[in-house]
Amino acid sequence: MNRQEPKKQEAAVGTECRAEFIFYARNQTGKLRSVEVLGDYACDFRRPDWAHRWSDWNFGQNPYLNLFLCAKHAREFGLM
Ligand SMILES: [Zn+2]
Repeated sequence: MNRQEPKKQEAAVGTECRAEFIFYARNQTGKLRSVEVLGDYACDFRRPDWAHRWSDWNFGQNPYLNLFLCAKHAREFGLM
């Protein structure tokens, strides 16, 4: 394993990028499901492993991976 996880300060994230929706992994029908987040979670886009999570999710590599995204990033990635 050759993991590269740059250490980043999370303090600077602020409140504008808080997860608002959970997107469930795509299933065979390709139907996209999302639900509103009730708890307090950071937007997954801010995670250092985001690119990996996104490709896993997008290509259905991991059926148990759910994305927690704010509305802004969900729109940016065409999920809403
Ligand atoms: Zn976000």
